Amino acid sequence: MRTIQMVDLKQQYAKIKGPVDAAIQEVLDTTSFINGKAVTDFAAGLSRYLGVKHVIPCANGTDALQISMMALGFQPGDEVITPSFTYVATTEVVALLRLKPVFVDVDPKTFCIDPAAIERAITPRTKAIVPVHLYGQAAPMAEIMEIARKHQLYVIEDNAQAIGNEYTFPGGQTVKTGTIGTIGTTSFFPSKNLGCYGDGGAIFTADDALANKLKMIANHGQSRRYYHDLVGCNSRLDSIQAAILNVKLEKLDSYNDARRKAADNYDRAFAGHAHITVPYRAPYSNHVFHQYTLILEGVDRDGLNAFLASRNIPSMIYYPVPAHRQQMFAAFGGADYDLPVTDWLTQRVISLPMHTELDSEQQDLICNSVLDFMKK
Ligand SMILES: *Cc1c(COP(=O)(O)O)cnc(C)c1O
Repeated sequence: MRTIQMVDLKQQYAKIKGPVDAAIQEVLDTTSFINGKAVTDFAAGLSRYLGVKHVIPCANGTDALQISMMALGFQPGDEVITPSFTYVATTEVVALLRLKPVFVDVDPKTFCIDPAAIERAITPRTKAIVPVHLYGQAAPMAEIMEIARKHQLYVIEDNAQAIGNEYTFPGGQTVKTGTIGTIGTTSFFPSKNLGCYGDGGAIFTADDALANKLKMIANHGQSRRYYHDLVGCNSRLDSIQAAILNVKLEKLDSYNDARRKAADNYDRAFAGHAHITVPYRAPYSNHVFHQYTLILEGVDRDGLNAFLASRNIPSMIYYPVPAHRQQMFAAFGGADYDLPVTDWLTQRVISLPMHTELDSEQQDLICNSVLDFMKK
């Protein structure tokens, strides 16, 4: 059996080596390493795939969030509501821009931001909501957009873990996550559902004026060459990464299907277990399983992690410390926050290997090992 990994990029690459190598070679032959044809092709391809008018590629998913917040013209001290139960990038950029992160709780079923908690956190200084489609599950966007409309707030969707997810509105209309809010952002970090072989990211919007501003900010605030109208930054997706992404974008739907199939297998193995809650699948969200994350009750989680490791099976805690308990946010009243669901989940979640190349032999071993540990 192949060694089990959290994410098996090697095996995935082996299957697309021909077209990927050719795409990289083409960039090398043209030497247009920055803003080459591969980058414009990729932006156009992703825009078609997502059904969103503008895709602005950038250097990584963290920059995508930062550039979005710069473009919306927030002033120091303005408040941005985010979940605490997320990867640090979501909340870090808020503080970096001298804005105030306001952490709210999540729903224990979806792992995503709780709309009722958003409402309670709104003040006259609130400017935006940043929902995160965590682990590949969509946040409840209909409710979030309704709150945003009512209070005239911007919505920036952090779609780094959910690219390809389709969100269905109560009326039946289905759209891709990341295209619902004012702006959507994503990351092409290698382990993401659509990953390149280095760093990469992108920003999506339907708004022409905003797209123009986002593009300028990502390129030193430049309106035309050497004329800089805004303070911006330098954030580019390079042509080699874009060339790889052009090949992988074609595969994204089948990759997400493979993840769902692996999730189905896990679900079957753990169904009805007294100590295990399998990931909830919100009916409005076509979950893309960036992670497959269990909630354990009455289980020695560190013991399980060590037991799996003894059988060469990796497992991870995403994330061991929520944002409101990170030292970097101490100045924002970290200790004063009362986020019981976030703390409850942080103590109980564990993520199992999840990628496009899991085979049934590997999954059987993982499932049997988890169940063996529970019997002890
Ligand atoms: C990966 C990730 C990011 C940041 O992406 P980078 O490309 O690593 O900067 C932001 N938010 C979430 C939820 C992520 O998972």
